[in-house]
Amino acid sequence: MTVDDCLFCKIVNKEIPSEFLYEDDAFVVFRDINPQAPVHLLIVPKKHIRSINDLTDDDKEIISEIFMVGKKIAKIENVNKSGYKLVFNVEKGGGQVIFHIHLHLIGGWKK
Ligand code: AMP
Ligand code: ZN
Repeated sequence: MTVDDCLFCKIVNKEIPSEFLYEDDAFVVFRDINPQAPVHLLIVPKKHIRSINDLTDDDKEIISEIFMVGKKIAKIENVNKSGYKLVFNVEKGGGQVIFHIHLHLIGGWKK
Protein backbone atom coordinates (compact mmCIF):
# COMPACT_ATOMS: atom_id res chain seq x y z
CA MET A 1 0.00 0.00 0.00
CA THR A 2 1.29 3.44 -0.86
CA VAL A 3 0.01 6.94 -0.41
CA ASP A 4 0.55 9.24 -3.39
CA ASP A 5 1.82 12.25 -1.48
CA CYS A 6 3.86 10.34 1.11
CA LEU A 7 7.57 11.26 1.00
CA PHE A 8 8.73 7.98 2.53
CA CYS A 9 6.60 5.93 0.10
CA LYS A 10 8.35 7.82 -2.71
CA ILE A 11 11.76 7.03 -1.18
CA VAL A 12 10.80 3.37 -0.63
CA ASN A 13 9.61 3.13 -4.25
CA LYS A 14 12.79 4.86 -5.48
CA GLU A 15 10.78 7.72 -7.02
CA ILE A 16 13.03 10.02 -4.97
CA PRO A 17 16.69 8.98 -5.02
CA SER A 18 18.11 8.02 -1.66
CA GLU A 19 21.08 5.98 -0.55
CA PHE A 20 19.94 2.90 1.33
CA LEU A 21 22.29 1.52 3.95
CA TYR A 22 20.12 -1.57 4.06
CA GLU A 23 17.17 -2.99 2.17
CA ASP A 24 15.19 -6.20 2.41
CA ASP A 25 11.68 -7.31 1.45
CA ALA A 26 10.03 -5.28 4.15
CA PHE A 27 12.35 -2.39 5.11
CA VAL A 28 14.74 0.27 3.90
CA VAL A 29 17.24 2.16 6.04
CA PHE A 30 18.69 5.55 5.14
CA ARG A 31 20.36 8.50 6.89
CA ASP A 32 18.21 11.25 8.32
CA ILE A 33 18.57 14.41 6.23
CA ASN A 34 18.76 16.52 9.41
CA PRO A 35 20.78 14.38 11.82
CA GLN A 36 20.38 14.99 15.54
CA ALA A 37 23.48 12.92 16.39
CA PRO A 38 26.61 11.61 14.61
CA VAL A 39 24.62 8.53 13.62
CA HIS A 40 20.96 9.17 12.85
CA LEU A 41 19.26 6.57 10.68
CA LEU A 42 15.65 5.94 9.77
CA ILE A 43 14.35 2.38 9.59
CA VAL A 44 11.30 2.51 7.37
CA PRO A 45 8.84 -0.30 6.62
CA LYS A 46 7.94 -0.53 2.94
CA LYS A 47 4.29 -0.82 3.91
CA HIS A 48 2.60 2.54 4.40
CA ILE A 49 1.37 2.77 7.98
CA ARG A 50 0.62 6.26 9.28
CA SER A 51 1.84 5.88 12.87
CA ILE A 52 2.04 3.49 15.81
CA ASN A 53 -1.65 4.30 16.40
CA ASP A 54 -2.54 2.64 13.09
CA LEU A 55 -0.89 -0.73 13.71
CA THR A 56 -3.12 -3.76 13.39
CA ASP A 57 -2.60 -7.40 14.26
CA ASP A 58 -1.40 -7.89 10.66
CA ASP A 59 1.56 -5.62 11.44
CA LYS A 60 2.93 -7.66 14.33
CA GLU A 61 5.73 -9.12 12.22
CA ILE A 62 6.75 -5.69 10.89
CA ILE A 63 6.91 -4.19 14.34
CA SER A 64 8.99 -7.01 15.77
CA GLU A 65 11.29 -7.19 12.73
CA ILE A 66 11.91 -3.44 12.78
CA PHE A 67 13.78 -3.87 16.07
CA MET A 68 15.79 -6.76 14.63
CA VAL A 69 16.79 -4.51 11.70
CA GLY A 70 17.71 -1.82 14.25
CA LYS A 71 19.95 -4.23 16.09
CA LYS A 72 21.63 -5.33 12.84
CA ILE A 73 22.19 -1.76 11.62
CA ALA A 74 23.53 -0.63 15.00
CA LYS A 75 26.25 -3.24 14.64
CA ILE A 76 27.02 -2.26 11.04
CA GLU A 77 27.27 1.41 12.10
CA ASN A 78 29.43 0.38 15.06
CA VAL A 79 27.24 1.94 17.74
CA ASN A 80 26.07 -1.35 19.24
CA LYS A 81 28.66 -1.35 22.03
CA SER A 82 28.69 2.39 22.74
CA GLY A 83 24.89 2.48 22.78
CA TYR A 84 22.05 4.18 20.94
CA LYS A 85 18.42 5.18 21.10
CA LEU A 86 15.53 3.68 19.14
CA VAL A 87 12.64 6.13 18.95
CA PHE A 88 9.18 6.27 17.43
CA ASN A 89 7.62 9.73 17.37
CA VAL A 90 3.85 9.31 17.43
CA GLU A 91 1.57 11.95 15.86
CA LYS A 92 2.12 15.70 15.93
CA GLY A 93 2.31 16.08 19.71
CA GLY A 94 4.95 13.34 19.78
CA GLY A 95 7.08 15.15 17.22
CA GLN A 96 6.07 13.12 14.17
CA VAL A 97 6.29 15.15 10.96
CA ILE A 98 6.41 12.35 8.36
CA PHE A 99 3.25 10.27 8.64
CA HIS A 100 4.75 6.99 7.44
CA ILE A 101 5.90 4.96 10.39
CA HIS A 102 9.67 4.90 10.99
CA LEU A 103 12.08 4.05 13.77
CA HIS A 104 14.89 6.51 14.51
CA LEU A 105 18.25 4.95 15.37
CA ILE A 106 20.32 7.65 17.06
CA GLY A 107 23.80 7.35 18.51
CA GLY A 108 27.51 7.77 17.94
CA TRP A 109 28.07 10.43 20.60
CA LYS A 110 31.61 10.83 21.91
CA LYS A 111 32.13 9.43 25.39
P1 AMP B 1 9.58 12.30 12.55
O1 AMP B 1 9.69 13.65 13.22
O2 AMP B 1 9.65 11.16 13.51
O3 AMP B 1 8.40 12.22 11.62
O4 AMP B 1 10.89 12.16 11.70
C1 AMP B 1 10.98 12.48 10.35
C2 AMP B 1 12.44 12.59 10.04
O5 AMP B 1 12.60 12.50 8.64
C3 AMP B 1 13.08 13.89 10.49
O6 AMP B 1 14.14 13.60 11.41
C4 AMP B 1 13.61 14.50 9.18
O7 AMP B 1 14.86 15.12 9.35
C5 AMP B 1 13.69 13.29 8.28
N1 AMP B 1 13.58 13.55 6.85
C6 AMP B 1 12.69 14.35 6.23
N2 AMP B 1 12.86 14.30 4.90
C7 AMP B 1 13.86 13.42 4.68
C8 AMP B 1 14.51 12.94 3.51
N3 AMP B 1 14.17 13.34 2.27
N4 AMP B 1 15.54 12.07 3.64
C9 AMP B 1 15.92 11.66 4.87
N5 AMP B 1 15.32 12.07 6.01
C10 AMP B 1 14.32 12.95 5.92
ZN1 ZN C 1 4.04 6.17 3.00
